[in-house]
Amino acid sequence: MFRAHFTTTAGAVLLVIALGGMAQAQAPAQPQRPLTEVTKVDGTDGVYIWRNQNHQAMFIVTKDGVIATDPVAYGRPTGGKEYVDAIKKVTDKPIKYLIYSHVHFDHIAGGKAFKDAGAKVIAHKNATARLKSLKDPHTVIPDESVDKKKVIKLGGTTLELLYLGLNHSDSTLVMRLPKEKLVFIVDTIPVGSFPGRGFIDIYPLETEDFTKKVIAMDWERMIPGHPAPGGRLGTKADAQNLLTLMQEASAQIKKDAQEGKCWDTVEKEFKMEKYATLPGYASGLGFVARRYCGLWGRGA
Ligand SMILES: [Zn+2]
Repeated sequence: MFRAHFTTTAGAVLLVIALGGMAQAQAPAQPQRPLTEVTKVDGTDGVYIWRNQNHQAMFIVTKDGVIATDPVAYGRPTGGKEYVDAIKKVTDKPIKYLIYSHVHFDHIAGGKAFKDAGAKVIAHKNATARLKSLKDPHTVIPDESVDKKKVIKLGGTTLELLYLGLNHSDSTLVMRLPKEKLVFIVDTIPVGSFPGRGFIDIYPLETEDFTKKVIAMDWERMIPGHPAPGGRLGTKADAQNLLTLMQEASAQIKKDAQEGKCWDTVEKEFKMEKYATLPGYASGLGFVARRYCGLWGRGA
């Protein structure tokens, strides 16, 4: 008898049992999650989360229009339009803004439907410069660039766009809703999972400083760019956990690097056992090892 669990992209668990050489797929053990979904954030008047598979974005509905973020449509040719259509099911107000969280295509590809709907596209200036040189056919060039800070006021809602330095990218905007005490921060601070391939080109030391600044800000809940296990929102404890994890990984590999163990030995032997139960631990460990070998073993 052969028995195995498979996790689908939608997160539902299928139990497949093969008996006597005959395979039979049973019904999902739990209701299958739809590929896309809109969720209202509890306790807010008009803050929503748009989820497309494993990516998510925040949008805010006000009496004078909608502020949307991240099309999250990389490799999903209809994803941008599906997002616009989902907003239109919630409100008939016009979409005034589309704000990019940072330059990475998995979050910002697919903005054409927003542009066609009349939205102004805003990003950090480093994202705009990069997008102008890359000319990705699926990613709309921003209409306006932010340097350190921009405040958007629309229909009674205030949204701050803040650049707090290098972190997961060189173009991350922290988006804060002061009244709702909510922040939308993408990729830098994983919620309930071990850091993964996002570590490939992270700025490790600067990310520690960035995370300390985020913790010092006034907010209570964080919408992450990838859904957390169970769909929960992040807290300052998640930010502190990342900071601790990075400090521990950095200290350990710094020592190894200075003993000449980067890259091969560290990549083989690096473990962080206390995080072993976190989703993404096994696949993420190598990315963390390589990035800190890059830092302490190479000076980069
Ligand atoms: Zn990213």
